[in-house]
Amino acid sequence: MQPKHIDTDERPFVLIWEVTQACDLACKHCRAEAQPRRHPDELTTEEGKQLLDEARRFGDGQLVVLSGGDPLYRDDTLELVEYGVDRGLRMTLTPSGTTSLTADRIQALANAGLRRMALSIDGGSAETHDAFRKETGSFEQTVTAARAAREAGLPLQVNTTVCAETVDELPEIRELVADLGAVLWSVFFLVPVGRGQVLDPISPDRAERVMEWLTSVSSEAPFGIKTTEAPHYRRVAIQQQRSATGGDEARDGPPDGIGRRTGITAGDGFAFVSHTGNVYPSGFLPEAAGNVRERDLVDIYRESPLFEDLRDPDALRGKCGACEYRQVCGGSRSRAYAYTGDPLASDPLCAYVPDGYDGPLPEQSLSD
Ligand code: SF4
Repeated sequence: MQPKHIDTDERPFVLIWEVTQACDLACKHCRAEAQPRRHPDELTTEEGKQLLDEARRFGDGQLVVLSGGDPLYRDDTLELVEYGVDRGLRMTLTPSGTTSLTADRIQALANAGLRRMALSIDGGSAETHDAFRKETGSFEQTVTAARAAREAGLPLQVNTTVCAETVDELPEIRELVADLGAVLWSVFFLVPVGRGQVLDPISPDRAERVMEWLTSVSSEAPFGIKTTEAPHYRRVAIQQQRSATGGDEARDGPPDGIGRRTGITAGDGFAFVSHTGNVYPSGFLPEAAGNVRERDLVDIYRESPLFEDLRDPDALRGKCGACEYRQVCGGSRSRAYAYTGDPLASDPLCAYVPDGYDGPLPEQSLSD
């Protein structure tokens, strides 16, 4: 059961466990810099089950995403899904679009009680998607798997990376998301970590236009939309509502495609456990607050100074710290860290300057 309200001081809305970094693909944006082989120090099956037991302590219906690499590279993934489902966790999976993602495997995962499967589509055609994924045939395999998920009754999420190379593809991808019957489109605004450092982000002005477009898509699309590492989507939605109504309402903004009303950012509603058990505020903020082999996951999330700082909007610096939207947005802490080394600095992808703010602006190192 999905909890109605989540206190993000107490528990993450989304807990991601990167079960392995192994993957047959070598995508340009890969945060994990995926490897062809499993790491010898990965959490074992038993350690993984212990981690799921700890996740259960966050409370009823904790959402757990098994990610990678390719989580299906492990031969115990189905067992881990079953284990989590038995303990009342909402288990979801982000497999890679490879030939290992067969209809039989998808059906078995659906039968095990998997709640949702997320697949990445970064181009509107085989040509553009395969070039981004550096694998001929990836688009076809992904679309085939998406249709198999639908036949298995498994809700589908599509993940898309927004960067200079993919941004013009978004309208075509939007059509594909609808055609595949996805329930949610997760639009990830590139943070330059891992292999993603070789890609160009879009400029703050372009990001603003993309977000305005996404708000119009969300009002008529048959699927939900959420942004990842771009919480200022909420600020854009609120500004648009205010200008449409001429009022001051909609202070909190609309709930997004997964029912979030305030911004979920690294360490605040979000936690990431690496393949070797390190706990990070997100997969894009490589500063570990502990390791589940040494310390309880719940304690790390609730009590580590890094996570506590990230949950305090008044600890933010620069224009994010002065911004009236910091409670519902707060900016991408991962991007701030990637550009400045300070996770509490301003998000350089946001074009908004709060009224009366005359302090320093983030380095305009993003391409225009
Ligand atoms: S300045 Fe910071 S808190 Fe304000 S809208 Fe932009 S990213 Fe969000």
